[in-house]
Amino acid sequence: MIKGYVHSIQTLGTLDGPGVRFVVFTQGCNLRCSCCHNPDTWNYNDRTQFAPEEIVKRVKRYKEYFGDEGGITFSGGEPLLQADFVYETFRLCHLEGINTCLDTSGSVLNDSVVKLLGETDVVLLDVKYTSDDLYKKHVGCDMDRVLRFLDVLQERNIKTIIRQVVIPTVNDYEENFLKLKELVDRYTVVQKVELLPFKNICTTKYDMLNIDFPFRDIPLPKESDMQKYQNMVKNTLPK
Ligand code: SF4
Repeated sequence: MIKGYVHSIQTLGTLDGPGVRFVVFTQGCNLRCSCCHNPDTWNYNDRTQFAPEEIVKRVKRYKEYFGDEGGITFSGGEPLLQADFVYETFRLCHLEGINTCLDTSGSVLNDSVVKLLGETDVVLLDVKYTSDDLYKKHVGCDMDRVLRFLDVLQERNIKTIIRQVVIPTVNDYEENFLKLKELVDRYTVVQKVELLPFKNICTTKYDMLNIDFPFRDIPLPKESDMQKYQNMVKNTLPK
């Protein structure tokens, strides 16, 4: 029987996909982003194992709160590392009429992931930077991997929401947002671009885990700047 490593569950989340959502945070990540808020999800085997049926049994209890748009979201960590487990959970959710959403870095692409996308209604894709140099330096993978993933979303016509964390002194320069707009304009599946402000409340998690937090001293973005950058990318919408 397939089981998945789960870090934690949020029963009624409003930040991880459209509407109200039951959010499953998987354990394990292949990347080590400098801006990561969840370093406690990195190690693969740290947490509880769940069968897809156990997750679906819990999700069904909240179905009445989902409305037209809500449903289940798998976030992480990196849910694509456990694609077979997520696929089976999504397949069972679809049998119950529950909408499915993946929150991912888009850095894993294999046959299991492609199969999983066949049961995925919405993808929240992090495009963390628009420069390959910044990807290599602050994510630990090539940007091309993420673009290949986006190509597959386009081929399969999967509704996509692009997200980027605005990190002062790292990616809060105008060329980045112009490049982001130019990029998403090439993909008709992109419904929305969400810019999220960098936060440093995770510093205590890093301290507890005795891991260096590279962005510890980065200032928080100003709200007026966030609005300015959001305006720069929002003209791509709606399609
Ligand atoms: S992909 Fe997500 S969970 Fe993994 S290191 Fe990056 S921000 Fe953290």
